[in-house]
Parts: sequence; C-alpha cells; structure tokens
Amino acid sequence: MSESKTDVLILGAGVIGLSCAWYLLGRGRRVTVLDRGRVGGGASHGNCGTLTPSHAAPLAMPGMIGEALRMMWRKDAPFHVAPRVDLELLGWFLRFARRCNWRDFQAVNAAKAKILTHSRGLIGDLVAAQNLSCDFAANGTLYVFREQQALDDFGWHLDSLRAVGIPVEERSAAEMLALEPGLRDDIVGGVFHPGDAQLRPDRYVAELARLVRAAGGEIVEDCAVEDFSTAGAKVDAVATSRGRYRADEVVFALGAWSPAVAKRLDLRIPLQPGKGYSITYERPARAPRIPLVLKEDSVCVTAWADGYRLGSTMEFAGYDTSLNRLRLDALRRGAARYLHEPEGPRVLEEWYGWRPMTWDDLPILGRSGRWDNLTLATGHGMLGVSMSLASGQLVAETVGGAATTLDAAPYSPQRFHL
Ligand SMILES: Cc1cc2nc3c(=O)[nH]c(=O)nc-3n(C[C@H](O)[C@H](O)[C@H](O)COP(=O)(O)OP(=O)(O)OC[C@H]3O[C@@H](n4cnc5c(N)ncnc54)[C@H](O)[C@@H]3O)c2cc1C
Repeated sequence: MSESKTDVLILGAGVIGLSCAWYLLGRGRRVTVLDRGRVGGGASHGNCGTLTPSHAAPLAMPGMIGEALRMMWRKDAPFHVAPRVDLELLGWFLRFARRCNWRDFQAVNAAKAKILTHSRGLIGDLVAAQNLSCDFAANGTLYVFREQQALDDFGWHLDSLRAVGIPVEERSAAEMLALEPGLRDDIVGGVFHPGDAQLRPDRYVAELARLVRAAGGEIVEDCAVEDFSTAGAKVDAVATSRGRYRADEVVFALGAWSPAVAKRLDLRIPLQPGKGYSITYERPARAPRIPLVLKEDSVCVTAWADGYRLGSTMEFAGYDTSLNRLRLDALRRGAARYLHEPEGPRVLEEWYGWRPMTWDDLPILGRSGRWDNLTLATGHGMLGVSMSLASGQLVAETVGGAATTLDAAPYSPQRFHL
C-alpha cells in the first residue's frame, strides 16, 4: 500500500471540508481532502440551499419537548423520533431537553447569528470574486403562514432575531401575494428576511472543489478513512481504503458520520443524524422567485433557473438508509396547502440526507484537547451550507495559530471534552 504526506489532511469532502481546504490553501498550506464517496455526496448534495441568518434561533427552546412528544405519534410530522431503544439517542435528547430554557436559547441564538451573518457575507463575496456558477441570488427568504394563531405566536421569534441584529420585515397577506403570486389566496401573512440568500448546493460544492483543485489542493474520492495511528499526543497517520496518509495537521469534517470514525481516536462526538428529505423537479411555470418557508408544515421551497425543490423534515431514526414515502408525501401535501402549483412537471430526484446534529445546535469548530494536531469541523446541523465559509475561515486561522476573525469560544470542542 502507498503512503502520502502533505501539510494538512482534511477528512470529508462535503461543503465544510472543502471550505476548510479553500481557506487553508489561501494561507499557503498544501492540502489533501479525502472522501469515501464523491465530492459533496453527503448532506451537502440535495439540501435546500438557503443561506439563512434568519434561522439563528436554536431548535432547543422552551416548549419544544412537549411539541416533539406530540409529533412523535404522527409518522408524517415534520419532526419525528422513530421509537426504539438507543442509549446514545436517549442521552442526546436528555441533554437537548436541558437546553430548552431561555438563558441557553439566547446564548445560542447570539452565537448562531454571528457565524451565520459572517458566513453569508463571505459567500456573497466569494461568489462575486471567483464568479462561481451556483445560482446564487441575494433575494431573501419569505416565511409564509396559513393560520393567524401561528403568525401571532411567531412575534417573540421575530423579537429574538431583531435582538441579535437580523433584519425582519412583517408582511400582510396582500403584500405576500403581490410578492409571490404563486401563493394561494388563503394564506394569512408572513415575514420577509432580506438578509437571506439562496444557491444551488450541489453546484456550490462542485465550484468549491474546482477552486480547491485550481489552487493546488488534491481531492481523493472513493477513499474511506478506516483507522488512525498515533504517536504521543499526535495523529501520526490515517489508514484508508487507498493506503496511508500522513500530515502535520488533520481536519475532521465527516458530517453525520463523525461519531463512528472519531471513536477510533477515543473521541465521543455527541452527534445524531437528523434525517431530512427533498424532492427535486423540473421548474414549474409558477415557481416562487424568493425561497419560501411554509411555516406550519415546515416545508422549504427553492427554485433555480432550471430546477425546483421541496425539502425539510427532521427524523431521528439513526443511520436508516430508506427513502420514507410518508415523509416525501408530507412534503408534497404541505406544499399544496400554500401554493397554486406545488410541484414541477417531472420529478428529477428524491433524496435524503443526514444532518450532523449537536444537542446544543452549535457546530464543533476548533482544536481537539486530546490530539495536538487534530482540528474538528463538524456538527453543522440544519445550517452547514449557510455556515460553510465562516467555518472554513475559522478552522484555517486555528490551524495557522492566528487570531480568529470570529470569537471561537461558543463553537469550541472543549464544551464536549473532545
Ligand atoms: C433536507 C435538508 C435540507 C437542508 N437545507 C439546508 C439549507 O437550506 N441551508 C443550509 O445551510 N443547510 C441545509 N441543510 C444542512 C446541510 O446540508 C448540512 O449541514 C451540511 O451539508 C453538512 O456538511 P458537511 O460537510 O459537514 O457534511 P456532508 O456533506 O455530509 O459531508 C461529509 C462527507 O464525509 C464523507 N465521509 C463519511 N464517512 C467517511 C469516511 N469514513 N471516510 C472518508 N469520508 C467519509 C461523506 O462521504 C461526505 O461527503 C439541509 C440538510 C438536509 C438534510
């Protein structure tokens, strides 16, 4: 078996691993990225592609546990926990439950707002500077409501976004219909988030890979990380299906697959796969111009020049690889409650992906306390595309021993003793 040596080895060629690679190359490092499949073949492939500082609020909030328990009995609910005996999942939920209080909510809301807003700016700048072909559009997002009670109850959420500097604009039903004539007349109103944006995620990831290669980075596909050898407090080599790789520094960006691989380094990463689904269609004639979040049904609708996607749902079902028809149908039914033309003429792809969910809903970014040359870049949950470039920048600064542009403390692996 062969052996290769580089400055920095990045494990995982999803949107996070590639963002780290781009910024490390920018700091003059030689970089090799390994992936057991194809570039961007994990959660980074079929997600909704929205860039959303407006999603700063953490999933853990007061009242969430009651809501989750109610939804557990509905198999097509947007949030579902498949009932089964799994001690790691139970531990994850107990910690999550403890976070459902206002103090933790506010701290995470502020930390997510910072990384989301910074990343949103970096992505817009990179798309423009490098002329990335990924259907980027800085056109905001529109949250749509069908029930007055749900819209009224959303008021506190808007206050929490304003409190961390995220602009929100309330819209009447008439204004919503003027903005998006494809919406049904029985919607009651909504909220416009002017700071949000959208892109086509598979193309964005392909463009990041192009930039990485053009800057001299190497990306090795079909190369599964299997084990590690260590020397003192350092990761000395990574054993893969394509031989051994050695590097001065290792960046761990394996998304929802992180926990199993990290166990080989005695690290217990507290992640659960949060399964989501999407259906991609040919673009319907009345596709929305602005990405929509259909609030009561939790369906996200994104349209591009040559495509249209319904996506979302959050299912805690372990590493289950089935395409659950109930959940795909729930996306279709949800969209039909809000849109005149909820589906495109032809289905191009039905897809699921595993979001890497931490119980505090913050990513894990920074040096491991256990291994001197290991940096973690995982746990981006529902917002990995949105947080991608700020994460890559922070990791590259950390590996380079530089001061970080963002305060790195809220994302530190030390909060999980990693
Ligand atoms: C339905 C859905 C909708 C979403 N919508 C949005 C959205 O609108 N906006 C947003 O910001 N985020 C969204 N997300 C979340 C986003 O997709 C993720 O947070 C993000 O893709 C995570 O990126 P990643 O690079 O960490 O993981 P991944 O993209 O999963 O990459 C991990 C990589 O590691 C590789 N790998 C795994 N094991 C090994 C191994 N042993 N050896 C080598 N390689 C390995 C995998 O092949 C994979 O390529 C959505 C997710 C879902 C499921």
